[in-house]
Amino acid sequence: MNEQMAFDLPDLFGEQRPNANRVDSIAKMNWSYSKRGTLEQCPRRYYYTYYAAKRRNIVQDPQAHLLSHLQNRHERIGQILHLVISTFLRKARSGDVWTTNRLTNWAESLFSKDCDYSQRLKIEDGTVLVDNNTVVLQEFYYRETDAEALCTTAGQRLVNAVAEFAENRAFAVLRESGMDPEASIELPIKVGGLPCVVNGRIDLAYQENDDIVVVDWKTGGTQGGDDSLQLATYGMWSISRYKTSPGNIRIHKALLIDGNLTTARIDDKMLARARARIIQDAELMATLDNYGREGIVAAFSPCAQPAVCALCRFRKICDGRANPNARN
Ligand code: SF4
Repeated sequence: MNEQMAFDLPDLFGEQRPNANRVDSIAKMNWSYSKRGTLEQCPRRYYYTYYAAKRRNIVQDPQAHLLSHLQNRHERIGQILHLVISTFLRKARSGDVWTTNRLTNWAESLFSKDCDYSQRLKIEDGTVLVDNNTVVLQEFYYRETDAEALCTTAGQRLVNAVAEFAENRAFAVLRESGMDPEASIELPIKVGGLPCVVNGRIDLAYQENDDIVVVDWKTGGTQGGDDSLQLATYGMWSISRYKTSPGNIRIHKALLIDGNLTTARIDDKMLARARARIIQDAELMATLDNYGREGIVAAFSPCAQPAVCALCRFRKICDGRANPNARN
């Protein structure tokens, strides 16, 4: 472990290396790319998401649990896009190839249903945040003045992204490869060989001659963070699952909003850096874990960044939120 920590990365714990108890604590941590991204972006939101909303802390927070079901427009169109693509690929395997119109209409209707439901919702009468497959959009929940316009634009982006997936020649090989029954679609993954539990989800993975190809559908706009860490995590999984070497792994990012396909290769240095980063993340998560379980919210600093808070589902209960009218 010390060798891995020797890379040129910030060491959050200085000279302190984990003792046996600490190793146990780290082993219990569940790391994922989205979880570490939340912690990096706003520790307070990390607390609400992974402790208060999960009811694992001693002081339970039913409000946080309720608010955790909200989604902002970017999250929701990303979720619908993944659903539409995975459904297309699964249906196509049995010969039922949906037309572009059918795909875009379905995507549009799912998002419209969310918008209609969210607009009609009477928050004062005891909010119900889950209704079958409908999601409450926080833009409406928080009565943002431009909610309708923002969601209309997001809906158009969704339709465009689905059409790009269905028709753009840059994605043709991915569509065809994804229809192969041997390909994995929306596969939950676990990455072994690390001192903590590492979880994730692969959008699409398949074998092409000697290469392993992993595909990540991206809607863009809200992701941010260290992309190479996510790619390296896919690489670690591929090596273990397919018993292959880093040089045989290709990772495609399909940027559906822009209609672009980018390709990254994995190498040993990238993997070592990712391992070191994951271990450091897990150490920090383990340090915060007791505070989270005890409901000590003050241990989790609010980021108070207007652009981040504007997209946060927990701003109703967060005393550290930025002024919603301020701009970064
Ligand atoms: S409102 Fe802002 S500071 Fe509070 S949890 Fe959300 S992102 Fe963090």
